[in-house]
Amino acid sequence: MAEIAIVGAGFIGLASAAWLMRDGHRVTLFDPSGVGQGASFGNAGTFAHYACIPVNNPSVFRDLPRFLLSSESPFRLRWRYLPHLAPWLVRFLMSSTPHRYEASARALAALLGHAQAGYGPLLAGPELQQFVRPRECLYLYSNGASFDAARRALDLRQKLGVSFDVLAADDIRQLEPALAPIFERGVLFSDSWHFSNPQGFLQTLFEHLAAGGLTLKRSTVSAVQPAADGASLVVEGGTQRRFDYVVIATGARSATFAQQCGDRVPLDTERGYHVRYPGATQLISRPVGWAERGFYMTPMSDGIRVAGTVELGGFSDTRNRSLLDLLTFSSKRALPGLDSPDSSWLGFRPTLPDGLPVLGRSRASERVIYAFGHQHLGLTLAGVTGQIVADLVARRAPPLDLAPYAAARF
Ligand SMILES: Cc1cc2nc3c(=O)[nH]c(=O)nc-3n(C[C@H](O)[C@H](O)[C@H](O)COP(=O)(O)OP(=O)(O)OC[C@H]3O[C@@H](n4cnc5c(N)ncnc54)[C@H](O)[C@@H]3O)c2cc1C
Repeated sequence: MAEIAIVGAGFIGLASAAWLMRDGHRVTLFDPSGVGQGASFGNAGTFAHYACIPVNNPSVFRDLPRFLLSSESPFRLRWRYLPHLAPWLVRFLMSSTPHRYEASARALAALLGHAQAGYGPLLAGPELQQFVRPRECLYLYSNGASFDAARRALDLRQKLGVSFDVLAADDIRQLEPALAPIFERGVLFSDSWHFSNPQGFLQTLFEHLAAGGLTLKRSTVSAVQPAADGASLVVEGGTQRRFDYVVIATGARSATFAQQCGDRVPLDTERGYHVRYPGATQLISRPVGWAERGFYMTPMSDGIRVAGTVELGGFSDTRNRSLLDLLTFSSKRALPGLDSPDSSWLGFRPTLPDGLPVLGRSRASERVIYAFGHQHLGLTLAGVTGQIVADLVARRAPPLDLAPYAAARF
């Protein structure tokens, strides 16, 4: 049995704790904000095992100018952040060539292929399973030309083992009659599901694990000091604590820790937003995505959450009013029965330029394990990530080859 610290209590930290405790280890979580308060709090809640097409794909060369100029674009760049972002952006564009995009898609599909099995220990008990809504995700196109442009990506998904049905306008209306009749084509992804309350799920998972000995320290970790036989955490205020293993699961804030452990990773953030419509949950029965507008509308336990958009702009807390307006305006156009949102949220997706997470041991110590950079898929990939973390600690063979996810790829 080892003493293990996990820094970060989001989907990745909690899932790692669940898998490590299954092996009998003693686990301490460190997070100043408590459980599930980072990107894990306000996401769209979808288990998107079909989402193997990374954001870095060849269509960005065609779409980027339009994305940057259109007021209806779900993609924004804060120009003041550009000097800081430039190295990341160059790598992102280099990762968007057909060859490198396909390599990322393959590596994502390989991970996603284990995503459902990875959730096993996280859904151990009815109090956890009650958050799972087994309703397949529906992804819609309001414009036939956008659907045609997405055909190649759909073909690649199919080649990589994703199964789905393509729907016409009438099929869409039959599935979700409250939607406005503006959608020409749709895709229904088999075997996907969603959480009715992602943070509620994480809190319940935490309580379940705490009953078995998991502890949470509400402290900020300021440094990780790797060593051959373990690692020390320096906690804000200067206290040091030594552990046999340390897991870095701090999402978008992980680059500094990686650097302290000998790895330079070009991690940045894709800012994303949600607005919430209280009540209204009966309007749709499943997560409904609108491709051209870059968001999902998900029926949650407390209302419909409209979540998505991508803003490259760093960690400023200032919200982009025009993206929140776009979410509100577009969701009401898709679902005319919606009234007014009562709250909004901004979160920071952790994103590497090639769209793949960093999973594996650090350069400076094999006792420091990286588990971050899950971009749009941290909820979906949480279980398999936890499984990999536990396998690395136990020196068991992980469920797949980890080479594509190594920090050393940069
Ligand atoms: C709008 C939006 C929609 C999304 N929709 C989906 C979806 O439908 N499906 C899906 O799979 N994914 C989705 N995602 C992505 C998903 O939310 C993220 O990939 C995931 O939450 C990342 O989890 P994490 O645990 O790595 O990071 P986080 O949840 O951000 O957790 C990191 C934690 O580390 C803590 N931390 C940071 N620094 C320190 C420190 N120095 N010391 C201690 N603790 C620290 C933070 O407080 C935070 O709690 C979405 C994201 C957004 C923004």
